[in-house]
Amino acid sequence: MKALILEENGKLAWREHELRRVDGWYRMRVAAAGICGSDLGRGFKGGAYHYPLVMGHEFSAVVEETPAGGRYAPGTLAAVYPLLPCGKCAACSKGHIQLCAHYDYFGSRRDGAFAEELYVPESHVIPVPAGVTAEEAAMTEPAAVAYHGTHGFELEKGGRALVIGGGPIGLIAAQWLRIRGAGEVTVADIDPAKQAFARRLGFDAVDSGKGVSQEFDVVIEACGLAATRTLAVECCARKGVVSFIGNPADDWLLPKPLFSSILRKELSFHGNWNSVPNPDWCQVLAHAGKDLNLRDLVTARVPMADGASAFARILAREGFHCKTILTP
Ligand SMILES: [Zn+2]
Ligand SMILES: [Zn+2]
Repeated sequence: MKALILEENGKLAWREHELRRVDGWYRMRVAAAGICGSDLGRGFKGGAYHYPLVMGHEFSAVVEETPAGGRYAPGTLAAVYPLLPCGKCAACSKGHIQLCAHYDYFGSRRDGAFAEELYVPESHVIPVPAGVTAEEAAMTEPAAVAYHGTHGFELEKGGRALVIGGGPIGLIAAQWLRIRGAGEVTVADIDPAKQAFARRLGFDAVDSGKGVSQEFDVVIEACGLAATRTLAVECCARKGVVSFIGNPADDWLLPKPLFSSILRKELSFHGNWNSVPNPDWCQVLAHAGKDLNLRDLVTARVPMADGASAFARILAREGFHCKTILTP
C-alpha cells in the first residue's frame, strides 16, 4: 500500500510502505484523515518519536477485512479511537484509559492514518451512525477532546462562557458550550481571520491580544500559551471554572497578584487530557451533523498523495486554515 511517510524531520513523501498484518485486528481502508496542529510539531519541529513514521490520528475508516469472530462486517464506516492503552497501569485499572502511563497511539507512537490502510483492534472501531459523513467521523477525535474539556464541571443555563483560541478545538469547544446551554459564548483569538471565522459560526469574537474586559463563568483555554493562561484567569468570574485544553508551549509564571486572584475568586481549575470513547466519542457521533457543525470547519480537502503540499501551505500560512482533511 501507499502512505504519506515522514522520512525525517520536515520531509514527507507519498510512497510504497509495508502494511504489517496484526492477527485478530480489522484491516481498514482510511476514508478521511484530518491534519492536527500537533502533526505540525511532530513532522516539522522535531517532535516525532521515530522515523519513518506515518502520522494521522484523526480519521475514519471502512472495514476491509473482519477478523475471525469480529462484530463489524466489511463495508462498516467507523471512527477510530487512536489511543491504545496498556490495560495494566493504575489509570487503566481505574478505567481512565486516556491517562494510561504506557499508551500506544496511532499516528505518533505507531503508524497512523495518512495511509491507504491500517490495522485496528475491535475495541477501537466505533461504527458511525447513518447520516454522519466520513469527513465528520474523521473529526470525532478533536471534537471529543473538545467535549472532554467542556464537561465534568457545572455550567448554569444562560451562563457566560469564553473560549480562548479560535482553532478547530476551540471552535468545537464553543459549540459544546452552546449545546450545554451557555447564554453567550465568546471566542477570543489574536488572529482577525480566526475572529471572523468564529463570527461566521455564530459566536461573538474578541481580540485576545487586547485583553478581555468582561468576566465569564467558564473559560476554556485552548491555545496553550502563558499569555492566554493568564488571560483565562484574569477574565474568569468569581466561583468560575478555567478548563485547560491547550498543550503548553511555554512556561507560566504566576505573579503574586494573579495567584492571589485565584484564591480571592475561588476559581476551579480543570485539566484535560485526550478523550474517552464513552461518553466523549459517543456524544460527538450523536450530535455530528445535527447541532454540532463539523463540516463548516473544513477549509481544505486534499488528496493524501498531495499531503506534503497541504502541510507546506499550512506551514507557510498561505490562505486561511481551520481543518484540512486528507482524502484517499
Ligand atoms: Zn489531534
Ligand atoms: Zn495503562
